Amino acid sequence: MSSTINYIPYFDYAALIIMIALILTFYIIKHVDDFRAHMLKVMLVTNLFVIIADFITSNSFRMKFQMSHALVYCGHLMYYTMHTMTVFAFFFYCRSLIDEHLLEKKFFMIIHIALMVLNYGLILSNWYTGWMFTLDENHSYHRGKFLIVLYLINFYYIGSSLFSIIYYRKKLTFLSRMITYMYMAIGTGCVIVQYLHQGLLLEPFGVSVALMMFFFTMSRFSEMYDEQYQVLNRQAFFTIVESTTKWRKTFYVIFLKIHNLKIYRSTMGREFQKNMILEITKFLSETFDDCYTIKYLDGEFVLMFKRQGTEERAEEIVQKINKEFTRSWLINENDIRFTFHTGLICCGKNEVVHDTELLAQYLDSVDEYSGAVAHSILKTDDINIQSLNRTFMIQGLLHEALENNGFEMYYQPIYSTKDGKITSAEALIRLKDTSHGFISPEEFIPIAEKSGMITRIGEFAFRDVCRFMNRDETKQMGLEYIEVNLSVVQCMQQNLLERLNAIVKECGIEPEKINLEITETEQATEMETFRANVFALQNQGFTFSLDDYGTGYSNLEILYRLPFHIAKIDKSLLWGAFENPKAMITLDSTIKLAKNLGLKIVVEGVETKEHFNKMVELGCEYLQGYYFSKPIEKEKFMQYLREFS
Ligand code: C2E
Ligand code: CA
Ligand code: CA
Repeated sequence: MSSTINYIPYFDYAALIIMIALILTFYIIKHVDDFRAHMLKVMLVTNLFVIIADFITSNSFRMKFQMSHALVYCGHLMYYTMHTMTVFAFFFYCRSLIDEHLLEKKFFMIIHIALMVLNYGLILSNWYTGWMFTLDENHSYHRGKFLIVLYLINFYYIGSSLFSIIYYRKKLTFLSRMITYMYMAIGTGCVIVQYLHQGLLLEPFGVSVALMMFFFTMSRFSEMYDEQYQVLNRQAFFTIVESTTKWRKTFYVIFLKIHNLKIYRSTMGREFQKNMILEITKFLSETFDDCYTIKYLDGEFVLMFKRQGTEERAEEIVQKINKEFTRSWLINENDIRFTFHTGLICCGKNEVVHDTELLAQYLDSVDEYSGAVAHSILKTDDINIQSLNRTFMIQGLLHEALENNGFEMYYQPIYSTKDGKITSAEALIRLKDTSHGFISPEEFIPIAEKSGMITRIGEFAFRDVCRFMNRDETKQMGLEYIEVNLSVVQCMQQNLLERLNAIVKECGIEPEKINLEITETEQATEMETFRANVFALQNQGFTFSLDDYGTGYSNLEILYRLPFHIAKIDKSLLWGAFENPKAMITLDSTIKLAKNLGLKIVVEGVETKEHFNKMVELGCEYLQGYYFSKPIEKEKFMQYLREFS
């Protein structure tokens, strides 16, 4: 039939250009070779061959180049094999979007591979059977009687891709759903147009356009790529790990942690730090081209083999990194030296580090452990797996506690030296479950912060305190306010004000009854969201304490740049002052400074009569510590108030 149709090749030319451009882009862009990338590659390459097959089999080309029977036959064969391959790859791509563990589903894989084998059996045996198509003496094409089977198989794959996308739509993002629908709509639309206007071979063009959309939105290349430093990013790392765990029993993760980047940023500026990182990523990706170079975090880089690598090679890379980073580097004409740790993590089902979560924790804990290890190459044993496991255990307990009301607020009285009585208290959270022994908030709060559970935990604490303050007996006790600890992570929440407001309204108390304690951290307190939250909450009537004042990263400026009402002197400062006369002078001046800035002082950790007397003498308004009481549960606290007043 097709011999009588006037073939219009323009769309195939356009399709050819699109496909070549896409395939080149695919190879140029640094990407992760996971299952989806493989399927996308198959779709791109097979569609290119479909277009070439279209050229070969079209009558105008046949005539022009006087093609042999065998060549035209091969053209048709190529069309069918490649076209069905595009469809198969599309099918597996769609399935892998909704099922991460697709390759492990043996039954599913066997059925679908069997159908593919049937499909190719039919195509390849056509030379003998002529079931799919035949060519007459003019090399013209005629459909075979079983061609319908090929169509049915193809329809099954396309239909079932569509079905999976619709059925599991909740698992997909809006964008991936739309693109998949569009891909199918364009494909089908072109087939219909082609059917109505025979000779207008639109289908390969339609598929090419759809593939282009697919490529730029679905391939997630940009999501996994760090434009600035031209390496893969943290997300790519997890994708590689996920796909590697499926294929390999053991694999290696090489890491490099640079400790002094921050110092260079503060002394030499951001631009200089950027150049340093650029030099590092350039060195790593050029020197170890058998590895993916990944920028895991600021100052933390990871290498992973592109193909199966050996432990010897991994060790060799670690040694080379160690050697290169021990020497000085010339950056912007400055001689600089790195302080760093590098190391090798052996991961896999039978290894200590056996899943992605543990690997991430392991990498996050490099900082913690590297300080304790003087040599720059960290061994797996240097990182304490037991402590990682404990972190896991605590995460589990926190989840459990959030679901089953497993937290409780304790109250530690705060004594007013002016009034000579307890006027407030600090609310401190406790885990009810003590089956693993007492776990201090000092240990579990940072874990909750890292795993994102802190916002829910913080809201629990806040609501519990608000409810407590609304009880009639509490009101009669004349408590001025309760101090509630607010994590920095909470202070970075966009909707913090609305959430806290909603809770005070719900509990029917005034914001003035709550004092929020926040601890200064270098990164957070500079951030706009943090500052905006603090000012907005202050406008609502909440007051603020600067917690742990006098420890760690203490920037005096913060005392007046944020609207603090109280400076809360850390217990370590108080205790230190009793051991060292100079520390006493520091404490004294710290108190004076805060007082001169108009702030009230709370000193925590008052344990003895001596502490008490000295703090009164130094003019502190409020005292908190075991001298008065440990943190105690609500009812005991009420009883304490009754007895004390
Ligand atoms: P923090 O805010 O510095 O709280 C003071 C800690 O010092 C409390 O430990 C308290 O029990 C302890 N303390 C007070 N007076 C004395 C004393 O005289 N002697 C001794 N040895 N210790 C004293 P705790 O309750 O274990 O809390 C530890 C940290 O956990 C808190 O330090 C705070 O940073 C955090 N935290 C506790 N509850 C919460 C909460 O609800 N939310 C948030 N975000 N953090 C909380
Ligand atoms: Ca506190
Ligand atoms: Ca403290």
